[in-house]
Amino acid sequence: MAEIDMKNIVKKYGDGFPAVNDVSIDVQDGEFMILVGPSGCGKSTLLRMIVGLEDITSGEMVIGGKVVNDLAPRERNLAMVFQNYALYPHLTVYENIAFPLRLAKASDAEVDEKVRAAAATLELEEHLERKPGNLSGGQRQRVAMGRAIVREADAFLFDEPLSNLDAKLRGQMRTEIARLQKKLGITTVYVTHDQTEAMTLGHRVAVLKRGLLQQLATPRELYEQPGNLFVAGFIGSPPMNFLPATVEGTSVKLPFGSVEIPAEKAEKAAGKGLLIAGIRPEHFEDAAVKEGASGSASTFRAPVDVVEWLGNETYAYIPFEAPPEVEQQLRQLERDLDGEVLHTQLVVSLDGKSQIAEGEEAEIWVDGTQIHLFDPTTGENLT
Ligand code: ATP
Repeated sequence: MAEIDMKNIVKKYGDGFPAVNDVSIDVQDGEFMILVGPSGCGKSTLLRMIVGLEDITSGEMVIGGKVVNDLAPRERNLAMVFQNYALYPHLTVYENIAFPLRLAKASDAEVDEKVRAAAATLELEEHLERKPGNLSGGQRQRVAMGRAIVREADAFLFDEPLSNLDAKLRGQMRTEIARLQKKLGITTVYVTHDQTEAMTLGHRVAVLKRGLLQQLATPRELYEQPGNLFVAGFIGSPPMNFLPATVEGTSVKLPFGSVEIPAEKAEKAAGKGLLIAGIRPEHFEDAAVKEGASGSASTFRAPVDVVEWLGNETYAYIPFEAPPEVEQQLRQLERDLDGEVLHTQLVVSLDGKSQIAEGEEAEIWVDGTQIHLFDPTTGENLT
């Protein structure tokens, strides 16, 4: 069994702010766990503490039921797959895969058996005599994984393995890694700053910000039920919109007008004053193309600034102003998310059939069941 149980892990460099601050994550046997967050959130430090390349300031790292805090990397039986794959260019694929076995002084017969078995799993049999320089990026990735497989490591650890590749290759390799992990069923911890990788690869995803675990959940839970403003803004593309809002009865007042929300949502946010509403772009629609929407309690009228027609969908941009009470919080969120979310305009994704036009006022429908309401001070999702 290769569960990786991180218990209240803290890492301090010097006496500054902890790079990893009381993080607990339980990676199950065979699970694909993603550590994701913006630059500096502590994800690489956490991975390096799992593998043993970094000391743990406090907390317990438990692998396969054993506390490994004081074990050297080679005593942990984990395989790290690096960004550049760390292959030896002068060695053949066969010898690259065999490398850890040669180091362990395995017999030629054992080397041959294990290398061929790994090559079969990875569909590399035809390439065993080639050098890494003559392989595609995907094949090199598989060689790197082959090396991890022959070691019979308890878990694979990846640190941003795809970040140097162009978008197309990155997409292919992502699929490849997902397929192999499933086939091998090996516990995997994968670090990335890319939310698409996080969402598509992870069985569960740990979102980190400034050393703190923000949420640990399945991709679907993160998307549908983000725990706070940061997670809500980080997951999803184009990102969730954040707007000032107040709740009165069962309606939520937005900068453009009021829309109805379910009573149970309204109850959770009642009496809280000014809040931040989070609405994903796809939860809006042009009232003119949605049957029964026009004139209902779920629409508002707003001036459309810019329209981008993409064929199957249309993006419309609608400017708004946030009152000072929430503007500061929204600006901070913008900074935390590298400007990915904006506090000055609403982005709505409409049906491609929409005839919405720049410079005109449009009637926009909102799916009230999909509105999140966040506490502007703590950022917590109240709904
Ligand atoms: P990136 O995606 O940029 O690699 P990250 O999320 O992986 O970022 P870490 O590399 O884990 O973040 O760094 C977390 C924090 O710890 C950062 O503030 C970083 O500056 C700091 N840090 C990392 N390594 C060291 C070190 N050896 N000495 C001092 N501070 C460090």
